[in-house]
Amino acid sequence: MTLTIPFDNTYARLPGTLFTRQAPTPVPAPRLLAWNDALADQLGITGTPDAAVLAGNTISEGADPLAQAYAGHQFGGFSPSLGDGRAVLLGEVIDQTGQRRDIQLKGSGRTPWSRGGDGRAWMGPVLREYVVSEAMHAMGIPTTRALAATATGEDILRETPLPGAVLTRVAASHLRVGHFEYFAARGDTDSLQALFNYAVDRHDPGATDPLSFLKGVIARQARLVAQWMGVGFIHGVMNTDNTSISGETIDYGPCAFMDGYNPSTVFSSIDRNGRYAYDNQAKILPWNMAQLASALLALMPDPEAAIPPFTEAVHAMPDLIEAERLRTFAAKIGIASPRAGDTALIDDLLALMAAGRSDFTNTFRALPSNDAKDHVADRDAFLDWADRWHARLESEPDAAALMARTNPAVIPRNHRIEQMITAAVAGDMAPFQTLMTALATPYQYPVDQSLTRPPSQDEVVTATFCGT
Ligand code: AMP
Ligand code: MG
Repeated sequence: MTLTIPFDNTYARLPGTLFTRQAPTPVPAPRLLAWNDALADQLGITGTPDAAVLAGNTISEGADPLAQAYAGHQFGGFSPSLGDGRAVLLGEVIDQTGQRRDIQLKGSGRTPWSRGGDGRAWMGPVLREYVVSEAMHAMGIPTTRALAATATGEDILRETPLPGAVLTRVAASHLRVGHFEYFAARGDTDSLQALFNYAVDRHDPGATDPLSFLKGVIARQARLVAQWMGVGFIHGVMNTDNTSISGETIDYGPCAFMDGYNPSTVFSSIDRNGRYAYDNQAKILPWNMAQLASALLALMPDPEAAIPPFTEAVHAMPDLIEAERLRTFAAKIGIASPRAGDTALIDDLLALMAAGRSDFTNTFRALPSNDAKDHVADRDAFLDWADRWHARLESEPDAAALMARTNPAVIPRNHRIEQMITAAVAGDMAPFQTLMTALATPYQYPVDQSLTRPPSQDEVVTATFCGT
C-alpha cells in the first residue's frame, strides 16, 4: 500500500519572503535504514514506508517542499543569511492529539541557502540524530523526532567518501530564534509580523503581544536546558539558529551525553573555547533569548520604551533556569517538593561526583540502592553526604519511585553510538536495533546490560564532529 501522509500545510501559504519553494534532489538508490512505526501512527500516516518518498525522489501528494529563511548567531557572530541549506520542509500534518507537526527531509540536497555545502548528510549524523532524539523523547525531554532514516546509495565527500543518508524529521515546528533575527536584521517588519503571528498561532495561542510571546519561549527554553543538564546532555552547537521557538531540542550535531561527570565537558570539535560546555549551556541561553528579544523589539510601536520590560524578561531567565534545575535535580535525589536548602545538598553531591569523575548516569541510578558510594572517589565524604540526604528524605515518602522514573538506567552513550555507526556503514543494523530497543524504555535496565557500562579506556570518545 502506498505511503500516505495527510498533509495540511500552512507555512507554504505565508509571504514568499519567508521561504523558497525547493524540491529535494533525487538520489541514485534509496534504501530504508529505519522507520518509526509508532510515530507514523501518531501522525496519521498510513501505508508501507517507501524509500523513494523518504529520500525525496518521489513527492507525495499534498507535499509542498520548501526551504525556510533564517539567520543566526553562530558562536557569537551574526550570520544574516543561513536558512535550510540541506533540508526541505515537506509540509505539516495534524497528529492524533490535534497538534500540528512539521515533516522535514534533512540531507535532501542543495537549496538556495547551501552556500558552499553539498546539501547532504552522511549516514553517521543521520543515525546519531535518529537514536539520540528518540532517546530524548523516551526520557520525556522535548525534542524533534525521527520518522525515518534512508540511505541514498551515493557516497558524499567529507574528509573521505562516506555513505549519504536522509533523515525524516518531525517537529512541533522548525521555527528558530534565527527566523526572527533574519527579518529584524533586514528591517522587513511586514515579514517579521507575519512570522510572529504564525509563531503565536502555533506555539503561544494565549500570547497577546511580543513580550508575552518572548516570556513563553524563555520559559520553555529554561525548562529544556534544565532537563538536558539532568541527563548529562551537551547539545554542542547552541547557536541561535539551533534554538527552537517551540522549546524542543533541535539540530543534533556534535551532541553527546557525559559519561564521567565534569561540568566543563565539551565534545564538539568546533567549540574551541567551550562556549557550549555542559555547565555553560545555562549561561548561553539567556544570551540567545536576548537576541530574540532584540529582534522582537522591531514589532513594538515604540521600541525604545519596550527595552526595559524586554530586558527584564531576559534578566529573569537565570533564576528561572535555576528553579528548573533545582526541580530537575531534586527529583533525581528523590525530592518531589524542593526547598531552598536543597540546592546545597545537590551541589555537594555533584562536587563529590566531579572530584572523581563519577559516571553521571550510573551514580544517580545507584543512589537508592546505596551503591553510589562505589562510584564516588571520596567514600567517607559521600557517606557524610548520604546521612544528610537520608535525613532530608524522611519527609519524602515516594523518593524511591521518583528516583526510578527520573534517573535513566540507559542513555545513548557516545562509544555505543560510534560503534553503531561503524556497524551501520558496514551494512549491519543490529547494533542500531539493540540501542533503539533499550532506549525506548530508558528507566528500565536493558536486557543487554553492557549498554549501561561506561566506555573502557580505549572506547572513550573525546570529540564529536558536526558531520555535516
Ligand atoms: P548546523 O550547524 O548543522 O545547524 O548548520 C548551520 C547552517 O549550515 C545551516 O544553515 C545549514 O543549512 C547549513 N549547512 C550545514 N551543512 C550543510 C551542507 N552539507 N550543505 C549545505 N548547507 C549546510
Ligand atoms: Mg542548524
